[in-house]
Amino acid sequence: MRIILLGPAGSGKGTQGELIERHYGFPRISTGDLLRLEVQKGSELGKMVAEVMKSGRLVADELVTRVVRDRINAPDCRAGYVLDGYPRTLNQALLLEKIEGDRPETVLEIQISEEAVMERLAGRRVCPGCAAVYNINNDKVITDGRCPACGAGLVARNDDRPEVIRERFRIYRETIGPLLEHYSRKQVLFQVDGRRAVEEVFGSIRLILDNRIARSQGESRRP
Ligand code: AMP
Repeated sequence: MRIILLGPAGSGKGTQGELIERHYGFPRISTGDLLRLEVQKGSELGKMVAEVMKSGRLVADELVTRVVRDRINAPDCRAGYVLDGYPRTLNQALLLEKIEGDRPETVLEIQISEEAVMERLAGRRVCPGCAAVYNINNDKVITDGRCPACGAGLVARNDDRPEVIRERFRIYRETIGPLLEHYSRKQVLFQVDGRRAVEEVFGSIRLILDNRIARSQGESRRP
């Protein structure tokens, strides 16, 4: 099963992707994380995408698709995987289908308003040591600006500034329509209300995925 998480930055895709990985065993693949790693390493690709990422705009479809293709060809993705942050454009969805068109898929759109996103991302902090993500407004464990897991000083992502968040939301709205239409036509699109508590959102996702996985297993057993 290929699980695709759609939703603007701040909708909770990363958190829900991790919960799906833990519960179902499908690895979570975040293109944002993979690209940030390239920037950190200072690789050729990292140098090409650093400025674009900082501005909140999208990296070229071909570049990001290459990263995804390399990752989903790894052995741990054989039974399935969760894509967080890819595809982001209709063209990326079509490129993905060229790589692995016949894999059963479920697309989850996490819905949330721009104001709720602004509030969430303004409080988001990441740990440069172990990559854990926190929110200073909700996580009571953050008392001194340090990571409770590894002790490193927490930082804001450089694309979590208010003007960049607005730009990322604008781009999301601009590009998501054709993608939703595409998956709706394929009858693989499911919508989830992202304003609720993490466990409640995951409860809705589980209902959908349990059903979809059972169905796809039933279909593959048919002669
Ligand atoms: P994210 O962590 O998913 O919010 O992604 C951070 C940034 O990485 C985005 O603002 C884009 O610049 C870039 N990026 C991540 N995934 C994609 C994608 N599928 N297509 C284009 N750019 C992407």
